[in-house]
Order: sequence, then structure tokens, then C-alpha cells
Amino acid sequence: MTPEFYQKIIDELERDNRDSNLVEKSQFFSNNLWGMKIYDILEEFAQKQDMHLVMSEGKCFNGLAIWPLRTVVLHASSFDDAISLGYLIARYMDCKEPIDPPQMGGDLKSFYLDFYDENYQSKYRLKAEDAISHSGAFSDEIKNVASTLLSLLFFHECAHIAHRHGSRHCNIDSDGITTSKEQPFKTLSEASDKHARELVCDSFAVNILLENYLAPQLDNLDINDKLHIIVRFYALVSLHIYFLSGDFGRDNFPLCIYPPVEFRMHHLYLDLRNDNILKLDKFDIELVEIRSKELVQAILRDVFSDPYAEDWMSNTQHNIYYRMWYETSVYPKLKEWAPYRG
Ligand SMILES: [Zn+2]
Repeated sequence: MTPEFYQKIIDELERDNRDSNLVEKSQFFSNNLWGMKIYDILEEFAQKQDMHLVMSEGKCFNGLAIWPLRTVVLHASSFDDAISLGYLIARYMDCKEPIDPPQMGGDLKSFYLDFYDENYQSKYRLKAEDAISHSGAFSDEIKNVASTLLSLLFFHECAHIAHRHGSRHCNIDSDGITTSKEQPFKTLSEASDKHARELVCDSFAVNILLENYLAPQLDNLDINDKLHIIVRFYALVSLHIYFLSGDFGRDNFPLCIYPPVEFRMHHLYLDLRNDNILKLDKFDIELVEIRSKELVQAILRDVFSDPYAEDWMSNTQHNIYYRMWYETSVYPKLKEWAPYRG
């Protein structure tokens, strides 16, 4: 990347009032082999698609896509956050031991609100770093979870570029915890366009991971082992979206910045059924949906003391209301925002 191109990225970020302090990977990952490895894999994908990847100093788990420069910017702290989330989730999934009383609590949704300290640093970063410094199955699983979460963030941004979204609205698409707090839209049309964009990018990201990451792991496994891996994957996708959304995305529906979490997942389960990249039969697809929802519910309840967990994807009133809005207002727009999809 030339210094001139680097400067153009900084200019675009400044124009959009985003953090424009870029971080060098060799510096940021000097003591973090795992981080360097996953960054290199993502960068290689970007280069093959004629895209670029850089990191900025911005806080929290966030990524953005700069359209005219075909550049994905990840907040460097996303790597720390992914490892911390990996630590919390892997410990529950694998060890089945109770997490240290989370010292989270009260009536707020802890997963989102109590994850960061006052400086927007993950409270679990040191424990997570210690855990991955040892070799073994637990350390590997933390890295697996963290890599999946980062890949979802990255490929979603790649999708904004691949689908040329920036050519039809603002130059920069930003997705993450900070964006989800932005003011709701003023018009239904703006909201339905944005929701359509987000849904097609979710599909793009998940399909890439199903094809390139999940499918190769399933070769020669019996169906129970396959389902185990697929269920965990969909649970991670749910937790990723849930973590980004904060308030479940229901506030101000349908003018909210993102589709509600349940609906983003509903759309991905429809893809699983319709695209069927993993070639599962109908019964197994239903099992994946049911079991991954149960796993997410258990993690939210047991790990994060999340009072919304009981409600996870079970509120039929909301679901019917969402479905009507998406079927009449958003689905008809999906093709406009994913021109390269069949
Ligand atoms: Zn997006």
C-alpha cells in the first residue's frame, strides 16, 4: 500500500468523523501470534478480492467499509474483544464449569453493557490472554471462537464493498457496537434500504464461512458430530449479532439502525434452508435452528446473566410484526442491494 493510498484512507475517515489513527499490524501484534495469523488470513482474502485491510485505533468491536477505496477498517481493539468473548464463550461451551460470578447483574443486559470497563477495554482481556498463552484444547477453542467472530465482522464489511453499497449511499458503511447506538432513521424508506443492505451482508459473510471454514471440517464426520459443529457455529453467529446490537434492536422498530437480532437470525436460517450450502436434510436443518437457539439462550442466561435470554426468539408477537415488515418492505429490496447474488 503506497503512502498516498494510506493518506486517502485517513482523509476518508476524517471526512466521516471516524477515528483516523491507523495502527501498524507489526506493532499491534508484536506479542500476539494468533492475532497476526488471523489478520494475515483476512488480509489475503481482501487482496484476492482487490480489497484492502487496515486497522484503526477506534474503540470497541467495530468494522467499517470505505467504498471508493475498497478498504475494510477494523478497530484494532476488536481483536482483544474477540479473544475476551472467545474466553467467556469457550469456557461455557467446553468446560461446563460455572463462569466466575460475572459481577454483572441487576436488570441491565449484561452481555452488552458490562463487558467493557470505563475505558472501553474488555474486562476479561487479561484472563483471556493468559488462557491463550497455554497450549491445549481450551486455548484452541478460544481462538476458534474469536476467529469466527472477527471473520463475521470482516466479511460483513467486505460484502458492503462487493455489493457496491457505497456507490449508492454514503461512502462509508460502519457496523459495530458504536454504530448500533446511532439515532433511528426518520423515514421508512431509509430504514428498509438499510435493513436490506444489512441482511444481504449477513448472508454474504455467513455463506463464505459455511463454504470455506465449516464445510471442510465436516468431511467424513457422522451426522451427530456434524450437527454439533453446525449448531455451535450458528450459536456464535447469533451471539455476534446480539453483541453488536445492544438493545436487541427492537427499540424504535422499524426505524432502528439495524434489523432486530431475531430477524437477522431468522433471515440466516431461511438462507440455511434455501441455499442449503451444507446439503443437510430438512429435519437436520430444523434441529440446527432449534438447538442453536437453545445454546444461545443458555449462554446468555448462564454466562452473562442476561435477563433478555428468556425472551430470545420466543416472542411471537414481535416475530409476526417483524415478518410482515420484512416481507412487504425489505425483502423486495434485497435484490437491489445484492446485485451479484443469484
Ligand atoms: Zn453493515
